[in-house]
Amino acid sequence: MNTPINRQWKLTARPVGMVKRSDFTFESAPAAEPAEGQILVRNHYISLDPAMRGWMNDVRSYVPPIKLGEVMRAGAVGEVVASRHPAWHEGDHAVGVFGVQDFCVADVAGAQKVDPKLAPLPLYLSALGMPGMTAYFGLLDIGNPQPGQTVVVSAASGAVGALVGQIARIKGARAVGLAGGPAKCRYVTEELGFDGCIDYKHDDIGKGLSKACPNGIDVYFDNVGGEILDLCLARLARKARVIICGAISQYNNTGGMDGPKNYLSLLVNNARMEGFVVFNYAARYGEGMKDMAAWLQAGKLKSREDIVDGIETFPETLVKLFTGENFGKLMIKAI
Ligand code: NAP
Repeated sequence: MNTPINRQWKLTARPVGMVKRSDFTFESAPAAEPAEGQILVRNHYISLDPAMRGWMNDVRSYVPPIKLGEVMRAGAVGEVVASRHPAWHEGDHAVGVFGVQDFCVADVAGAQKVDPKLAPLPLYLSALGMPGMTAYFGLLDIGNPQPGQTVVVSAASGAVGALVGQIARIKGARAVGLAGGPAKCRYVTEELGFDGCIDYKHDDIGKGLSKACPNGIDVYFDNVGGEILDLCLARLARKARVIICGAISQYNNTGGMDGPKNYLSLLVNNARMEGFVVFNYAARYGEGMKDMAAWLQAGKLKSREDIVDGIETFPETLVKLFTGENFGKLMIKAI
């Protein structure tokens, strides 16, 4: 194979507030060659995730920050184009943290084989990938929803939120979403089957929650933090579980994060609030994938992908997550 040219987005400045194109550089160089035990993957789809914003900050987190000058970290799915490992072959497909670039040399320990005949490749970055596992283990392991209980989820039309509400319904719970705008709310109720959805950009959020959750909130799956978290805390049912999955409303703050004011509701209601990181469930992904695949196959679960063409659009495409312009799991179609 002739050495292909690899286009790469590197982080070259720590963003202040919203990310911008000048925080990155777009470079081209010949793709590296795999060493013994490695594979060369050509990325077909690159996942864009809200967590990428946190990885750019030079702070302690559940993974080290991206160093300045490094290729922007990202999950991706692609095809093996060269292999120096006996168990991997050209034409295999793999998912892994392959970065915002056309080609990635990867250790096989960091790659997982996937089969495009079983599911289209984008699905391995959505319902059958990291967001799917987040919804599955976050809701079922920490939220533990029971039939008839009320589950509320924010960013409900998004990659994680849409799955959370559908899994809640599969388990016999009621699902109430919060989403930005009438089109997303219609999608959440009419297409995904949630019992209700509050348009947090136009409706009175508190009134909407009280109306949709007359017996209080048993499980709140928090993707956004901020005011919505506070309004949900104020409406908890006894023994409620609050899952801290993310806080996208806070990620671009320049003056620190706003914490919850209504946390004493946890005491009053004997409730629990727990944070979690999906990667801690890696050993159990097989279990989650099996259920998710079966529900997809049975038509009980819908997955929506928002696929933007071209790696060159990366900075502007990433911003869509924070403006709510994505509709479904956001990813870039690479080459
Ligand atoms: P997503 O929901 O597909 O996209 C982000 C959505 O967030 C946007 O479409 C927008 O929807 C909403 N949003 C943006 N700014 C907002 C604001 N100020 N207030 C309220 N909503 C806002 O993204 P995702 O990949 O599924 O991620 C959702 C959350 O899960 C994020 O917080 C992410 O960090 C977290 N997450 C955590 C883990 C973990 O292991 N803990 C793993 C994966 C994801 P609207 O148009 O409805 O506003």
